[in-house]
Amino acid sequence: MAKIRVLDEHIANQIAAGEVVERPASVVKELVENAIDAGSSRIEVTVEEGGLESIRVTDDGSGIEPEDVSTAFYRHATSKIENSRDLFNITSLGFRGEALPSIAAVAKVELVTASADNGLGRRIVIEGGRLVTEEDTAAPKGTDLTVRELFYNTPARLKYMKTIQTELGHISDYMYRIALSHPGIAITLRHNGNVLLQTVGNGDLLQVVAAIYGRQAAKALLPIHAENLDFTIDGYVSRPDWTRSNRNGISIIVNGRYIRSYGLNQAIQRAYHTLLPINRYPLAVLEVKMHPSLVDVNVHPAKLEVRFSKEQELFPFVESSIHQVLRQEVLIPQPVKQS
Ligand code: ADP
Ligand code: MG
Repeated sequence: MAKIRVLDEHIANQIAAGEVVERPASVVKELVENAIDAGSSRIEVTVEEGGLESIRVTDDGSGIEPEDVSTAFYRHATSKIENSRDLFNITSLGFRGEALPSIAAVAKVELVTASADNGLGRRIVIEGGRLVTEEDTAAPKGTDLTVRELFYNTPARLKYMKTIQTELGHISDYMYRIALSHPGIAITLRHNGNVLLQTVGNGDLLQVVAAIYGRQAAKALLPIHAENLDFTIDGYVSRPDWTRSNRNGISIIVNGRYIRSYGLNQAIQRAYHTLLPINRYPLAVLEVKMHPSLVDVNVHPAKLEVRFSKEQELFPFVESSIHQVLRQEVLIPQPVKQS
């Protein structure tokens, strides 16, 4: 008798949720990335109790067509790619079509969306992967998604949630990176009624840095711009006399996506040579742009890690570009010419 069966969609979503939805910050990340992909100019994130009670993300982006609203909650349902060729040419933050079904499998989700300015929208409620309601409703253009009682039906996962303060820390850290990678979007983060972050969205990265790290930090920054055939680098790095006690002040953005990269982190730190005191680190916001085919983002379910096909060229280029700026500031002594 056959013993192998294909699991149904519901359990497949619960399995995927194990990877995609690690904690409240993962929900915030997925929803905010969707809002960015929708071309929003304003994104508001409101969380209660570290996101364990509720997470609400409101945007003024494209919205979802009424006939697409329930499809958006199917696994591998996406409007962002069509075929496997697209996988090597990703220009959106999302593409796996996994976030909404995964989140809806392990929480209570209410989505209100409208894709036009005519006030007509659609509302859908899904709890633990089961459809509760879908109906027409009045709504402004954009999307308003609320996630309540995360992990209410997966008690083992819920048990591993840390304190509200820790979960909130992960959320605000992520929101800082998003604000730094998208200075052109007005971003607000509220927790239990308090505003923790607010950016105006006028495209000025230094203003965002000041909002997050303070005005003094923003004043200590040097602008970076460098380009070669493959890469364009833009951003700011701190003067070596202004340092931090941890590496968290380094933000790396690749084609608009905040990522973690050990190699790029090391390249930034190497650029300072011996200028940094031991166990001190710079503040840096670096955006690297390259052709999408040079970076594989399909490596990690949360897409925080990527692979560069030309890392042997990229890392030294980042290091030398930053080094040059620091040297121009006459902060690094020019090497003595050998005769
Ligand atoms: P992905 O982002 O990988 O496509 P998701 O599960 O996150 O997958 O979302 C599924 C689809 O729902 C998206 O492709 C998009 O078409 C739509 N969608 C989700 N959130 C939004 C939003 N805030 N605004 C507009 N469309 C959205
Ligand atoms: Mg998505």
